[in-house]
Amino acid sequence: LVRRLRPFAETIFAEMSALAAAHEAINLGQGFPDTDGPPSMLTAAQEAIASGHNQYPPGIGVAALREAVSEQQARDYGLHYDPDTQVLVTVGATEAIAGAILGLVEPGREVIMIEPYYDAYAATVALAGAVRRTVPLVPDGDGFRLDLDALRAAFTADTAAVVVNSPHNPTGTVLTDDELTEIARLCIAHDVVAITDEVYEHLVFGERRHRSLATLDGMAERTLRISSAAKTFHVTGWKVGWISGPAELVAAARGAKQYLSYVGSGPFQPAVAGALRTETAWVATQTRDLARRQGVLSAALADAGFRVHHTDGTYFVLADPRPLGYTDAAAFCRALPAAIGVAAVPVSAFVDPAPEPAAAESPWDHLVRFAFCKQDDVLAEAARRLRTLA
Ligand code: PMP
Ligand code: GLN
Repeated sequence: LVRRLRPFAETIFAEMSALAAAHEAINLGQGFPDTDGPPSMLTAAQEAIASGHNQYPPGIGVAALREAVSEQQARDYGLHYDPDTQVLVTVGATEAIAGAILGLVEPGREVIMIEPYYDAYAATVALAGAVRRTVPLVPDGDGFRLDLDALRAAFTADTAAVVVNSPHNPTGTVLTDDELTEIARLCIAHDVVAITDEVYEHLVFGERRHRSLATLDGMAERTLRISSAAKTFHVTGWKVGWISGPAELVAAARGAKQYLSYVGSGPFQPAVAGALRTETAWVATQTRDLARRQGVLSAALADAGFRVHHTDGTYFVLADPRPLGYTDAAAFCRALPAAIGVAAVPVSAFVDPAPEPAAAESPWDHLVRFAFCKQDDVLAEAARRLRTLA
């Protein structure tokens, strides 16, 4: 493996899902739901395959999906994107991230990201020969907030882009208006592009609301918004994602995307288009149910003896196993599938490696991410197994 990629040899999701499979464990590690998306969408994909929509779709994606993406953003955020020049369909949000970074960031330039960060950001920045700068979330009550001093310090003359992931994987944090306003101010002051990863845009609980960075003054013209069907419609295997933004930024992402996959997911694109248009009630119901299941798993973790963090949304909740006597979350996660038949992922997989020799211990070393996007009986059995840890 090339030197650039050696630090990212195997994703934590592959490692922990393999351990889960080997021990027939309940997989609360990798974030995927165990129920299907809306039936109308599944039928539409079957019909697309049966009726011959099986060849290369257009490079920018099928028109119906680009139009549906554009309509959804107008409806939900008042953002207006021309489906022909300002929307690009990608092979999941993963390829959208890669297209944006590889298409926009010159080697040696810097990309700011919130730590902990989704692992693909760091790997893609490395592939681009660029430099990652991290800005930490810091504990705030039983949740997290962005370290704004660190954010201000991270912007330099070398900054090319900032990746903003909210709702945030793995913490479930939804950035506040104040945090978004400061990010926007810095992007404008330093003439930096924002790449917003909003794949959990619809999965926000209770009174909290997700705000899109692109809706802040002066940001629509410098923001590439990324989302995907995976989490909204429970189809992580379909790999249908999209980018929207100013035409010249979308064109740059497309310039890279055409040599990554060229195109993808042909028969799934019209199905997702239909769901974006017609299944808003389904999404709202799923989100309410997901919030309930978050409550169920969080209570089970607390009951089992973990210190549980607050989550505003996503599929994930963080829990600290130190009250149970486990100080190293990574070792805990590697042992858990064999010990009790449950898999989870350590948050240390989403942060920079500690400088050598290991300096002060990192608070992230003590945290485990559990996914609650599972059926009630699965969560109940996981709860029973987790209680045996005490
Ligand atoms: N970004 C974040 C924050 C994620 O959690 C994920 C996983 N869904 C992705 C991107 C990748 O999305 P996709 O499966 O659509 O490639
Ligand atoms: N986004 C999901 C997660 O964070 C799946 C990631 C993956 O398998 N690469 O768990």
